[in-house]
Amino acid sequence: MRVAVFSTTSYDRRFLEAANDHRHELDYYEPSLSAATAPLTGKAQAVCAFVNDTLDAPCLERLAKGGVRLIALRCAGFNNVDLKAAHANGITIARVPAYSPHAVAEHTLALILTLNRKTHRAYNRVREGNFALDGLLGFDLHGKTAGVVGTGKIGQVVLRILGGFGCECLAFDPYPNPDVEALGVRYVSKAELLAQSHIITLHCPLTPETHHFIDEAAISACRPGVMLVNTSRGGVIDTHAVIAGLKSGVIGSLALDVYEEESELFFRDHSAEIIRDDLFARLLTFPNVLITGHQAFFTQEALTSIAEITLQNINNFAQTGHPVHAVTMD
Ligand code: NAD
Repeated sequence: MRVAVFSTTSYDRRFLEAANDHRHELDYYEPSLSAATAPLTGKAQAVCAFVNDTLDAPCLERLAKGGVRLIALRCAGFNNVDLKAAHANGITIARVPAYSPHAVAEHTLALILTLNRKTHRAYNRVREGNFALDGLLGFDLHGKTAGVVGTGKIGQVVLRILGGFGCECLAFDPYPNPDVEALGVRYVSKAELLAQSHIITLHCPLTPETHHFIDEAAISACRPGVMLVNTSRGGVIDTHAVIAGLKSGVIGSLALDVYEEESELFFRDHSAEIIRDDLFARLLTFPNVLITGHQAFFTQEALTSIAEITLQNINNFAQTGHPVHAVTMD
């Protein structure tokens, strides 16, 4: 099959080429996919897209008119796809439901430990010959209460690791899992999780129900000084409310790997430009905010697995008309 790969970086190309083994013609495009860039697909029958590509109705209509029949997402989340429009246009959507939950969970812990013990600030100080400890005070994770929102593949790994640190673990998920309870984790209401947790970490998908899960009301129900961590999707928290929470001190510290408006910023080098997003720029001014640019998935193992499963989806679709991991509307 001829496949147009959007939002391509050098590492995407390297891992996809290794997994493809010359079976399909992969055309690589750096721009992200939207209605405006859809005509780049040319004669491709399939498109390979990533988290910040905009697969809305106008884009899907253009792709279908050009002959595209498959969209192989090289990610787990599919909140950026209008599934109804895909169905109406006869386009099949495939995704990579699981690649390495460890990659995302371990990055979540990296954020928690860095934010707590301020190793990012200590690194710079020590290099400048400043060995003062003021401002670097952290807390023991041992004995603290950690609240995990979403106990799927990633949330479960996070819970196991936090358990290893000696945290008391609470969870909120509309579908409680007995395997999680067997770890000694207690499922509680959203209100109890917010009120009890010293650390809250988000691992649910972005859906209409989880959009702005952390909003003004949720923040006012939090334990004062809470550490909030989001490695799920930016829209799960309301950035305006979180900035207000940081200013009032209810949010003691914040770590983000994802941001509501990240599609304009992340995965590209903007270091010689002015950041025009005032909310994002405001976040960067807080000493107790740590942001990474959607890199939680970024390990050798995860990229290998993402490329292999993406190619399996394309192979299967080419042979049978069905990808291995189709996204359905229910
Ligand atoms: P998963 O499908 O295995 O688990 C998601 C869990 O969230 C499920 O247990 C589900 O019941 C729960 N959930 C659904 N609605 C909820 C709600 N309203 N409140 C609380 N919980 C709810 O998914 P996963 O593989 O663990 O991934 C979780 C999310 O992490 C993905 O949806 C994706 O958005 C994000 N993610 C981020 C990165 C990154 O690089 N930052 C990489 C991969 C995934």
